[in-house]
Amino acid sequence: MLDGTLSFESLEPLPEDQVGLAVLGYPIAHSLSPVLHNSALKELTEKNSKFQKWNYGKIELPPIHLEKTLVKLHDFGYRGLNLTIPHKVDVLPFLFSIDPDAEIMGAVNTLVRHSKGWHGCNTDGYGMEQGLKEKLNVDVEGAEILLLGAGGASRAAAARCLKSGCSRLWLGNRSENRLKEMDQILNSNYTNPPIHTFPLTEFPEELGTVDDLIVINATSLGLKSSDPCPFDLRQLPLNAKIYDMIYNPPSTRLLKMAAELGMKHANGLSMLVHQAAKALEIWTEEEISVSAMYQGLGEKTNFE
Ligand code: NDP
Repeated sequence: MLDGTLSFESLEPLPEDQVGLAVLGYPIAHSLSPVLHNSALKELTEKNSKFQKWNYGKIELPPIHLEKTLVKLHDFGYRGLNLTIPHKVDVLPFLFSIDPDAEIMGAVNTLVRHSKGWHGCNTDGYGMEQGLKEKLNVDVEGAEILLLGAGGASRAAAARCLKSGCSRLWLGNRSENRLKEMDQILNSNYTNPPIHTFPLTEFPEELGTVDDLIVINATSLGLKSSDPCPFDLRQLPLNAKIYDMIYNPPSTRLLKMAAELGMKHANGLSMLVHQAAKALEIWTEEEISVSAMYQGLGEKTNFE
């Protein structure tokens, strides 16, 4: 059983009957991924005993050792890997193949074993879309979306929203360079994407009249309790629905403001769970129960 945090230096070949999965990150100690995946694997084992041999661990991996550790994990027989901060973008040159959507986004969070190396894909956008459905009861298809941020998570979200047929995508970011770059990527990969970009300091007046807007925070503002709110929700109609990708802390300034205004809102825990379920589905080729994952989390979602 892979338990606790493994160091990249202490990795060993897996026994032949074991199937290894792991998340790589730096730092990684607080990752919830092992709990999510091992809870779902436990449930799968009740239906099919072969999953008893499957285990999901966490590996602390400084960026400088990423390339050689990927080779090692492949040689040692690992079946699948997840990547978190700071590896999602830097891993691209080390992959054997990349899913076209993930290539557009320039980020992958899931690696699948291929005989000649690792295949990369990205389940974050899927996770977000399912989280929106589950927690806010909204569909991306046909919806007006306001997406805050232009980093890796925002790119995954934007690509997913466009692929799922949102009616319009408003993109706000602090740095204009990054915003422009993201706009260019989306414009060259989608036909006539309905995108409006704006710097976070300037509120587009038209947004104030959009009904049933879905607001998604994909900035890192809110990770620290001292962070300011990334957007003033008071400028929007009260039927806007607010989704913050941040789940630790469970409530951010943005979510508190949404609660005060009586707006429907949710944090990003559901995105975490659904992206994990999709990754496990890819590796196991089995339907994955998110309820087993939520159950596994239990009190761990209070992040004391
Ligand atoms: P990146 O570092 O790639 O992007 C960070 C974004 O936040 C950029 O748009 C950056 O703007 C913006 N930002 C940072 N500081 C400030 C600030 N002081 N004022 C305004 N904007 C700021 O991070 P990721 O895209 O990987 O992650 C973004 C968030 O999404 C994180 O909070 C992460 O925890 C969360 N996340 C949640 C997931 C889930 O499963 N729930 C999955 C993935 C991410 P600029 O371009 O100007 O620097």
